Amino acid sequence: MKFDLKTAVSTSVSGMAAYAPGEQPEGGSWTKLNTNELPYPPSPKVKAAILKELGKRGESLRLYPAPESPKLREAIAKFYGLKAPFAFAGNGSDDVLNIAVRAFSDSKRAISTIDPSYSLYPVLAKMQGARLKKIPFEANMKIPFKKIFESNSNIFFFTNPNAPTGLGFDLKTVEKIAKNFNGLVLVDEAYAPFSGFSAARLVKKYDNLIVAGTSSKAWGMAGMRVGWALANPKIVEILDRVRDSYNLDRLAQAAGIAALNDVEYHLSKVRLIVSEREKFQKFLSGIGWNFYPSSSNFIFFKPRRGTSEGAAEAEAFFEFLKKNKILLRYFPNEKSACDGVRMTVGTPADMARVRKAVREWIKL
Ligand code: PMP
Repeated sequence: MKFDLKTAVSTSVSGMAAYAPGEQPEGGSWTKLNTNELPYPPSPKVKAAILKELGKRGESLRLYPAPESPKLREAIAKFYGLKAPFAFAGNGSDDVLNIAVRAFSDSKRAISTIDPSYSLYPVLAKMQGARLKKIPFEANMKIPFKKIFESNSNIFFFTNPNAPTGLGFDLKTVEKIAKNFNGLVLVDEAYAPFSGFSAARLVKKYDNLIVAGTSSKAWGMAGMRVGWALANPKIVEILDRVRDSYNLDRLAQAAGIAALNDVEYHLSKVRLIVSEREKFQKFLSGIGWNFYPSSSNFIFFKPRRGTSEGAAEAEAFFEFLKKNKILLRYFPNEKSACDGVRMTVGTPADMARVRKAVREWIKL
C-alpha cells in the first residue's frame, strides 16, 4: 500500500493552520513594534544568573534540568504573594495555554473566549479537536456576561488586558466571571503588569481560576521562554500531568528566578512604558485618531486621513511605516480588528519616530 501523508494526519490537525506569529525580521535597522516585546534588556542579574548556571565550560548542560522548576515556582509564587504549590512554570505562557487546553478540553468539552482576543486560542482548540466558541464584545467593548455564563463550555479564556485592543478590566469583572461561570476560567495576564493589578491572588478564593503570566513582555525576556500559571494546587497537579517532563531548560529557570527577584528593575521599566503609552495616547487624541485606552504595553489605533478610517487606511498606514522600517501589527483577516493597527510601546526615541511617520503619512 502506498503511504499517503494526507490520511496519516490526525483529523484535528488536518483541518488546521499553524498560528501566524508577528514577523521577526533578521538584521536591518528595524523599529520593531509588532510583537509587544519590551524595548529594554532584562535585569542585569538575569545575564549573571545564566552565566553562573552555565558554569565555566557549560558543564551544567550535561545534566537534565529540575523537571518541575521548583525554585522558579517559588520565585513566581513569591512575586504574587502566594505559596509555591499555587505556581506552575511553562516554556513561555503559550506552553501554559497549550497545557491547559490539553488538560481541560476535548471534543465534548468546549472552550469559549471573548472576541476579539489572542489568536492562538483557536489554533490550540483545533489541535485538540475541541470546539471554540467566540463570544463578541457588546457595543463599546462591554463584557457580554450573560452570554459568557450561558456559553455552555468547559473553560473560558479571558485575556486581561485584552489583546489586541489593550483594554483592561478590573478585578471585580474577573471575580464576577469566576463566581458565575460554570467551569474553569483562565485569565491570560500576559500584559497585566502594565495595568497595575493582577487576579493572581484570587486563585486562593476561586478554585476554578487559573491566572497565566509571562516574563516575555514586562520582564524583557521573550527570547528566554519563561511563563507561568497560578492556580489551586489541585489544578497545578493536573497541569503537571500534561507538561513535557523537562519543559524549562536550566538557563530559563535560572533567568526566570533572577528576573522575578529583581522587582525594582521590573517596575522601573514598566513605569517607563506606561509613561510613553500615555504620551502617545495624548498625541493620538491631539490629531483626532481613534484608539482604545490601553492598559497594556501596546496601543490599538485607527489610522485616519481626513474623515476616512477603516481597513484601507489601516493597511496603507501599516505599509507606509513598514517602508520606513517601522514594523507594526496589522490583522487583515480579523473582522473585528482589520480597521486598525497595533503598536507596541517602545523607547521614547521609537515613539518619536512613529509620531514623525504619522505626520508624514497624513500629508501624503
Ligand atoms: N497571551 C497573550 C495575550 C499574548 O499576546 C502572548 C504573546 N503573543 C502570549 C500569551 C504568549 O506569550 P509567551 O508565550 O511569550 O509567554
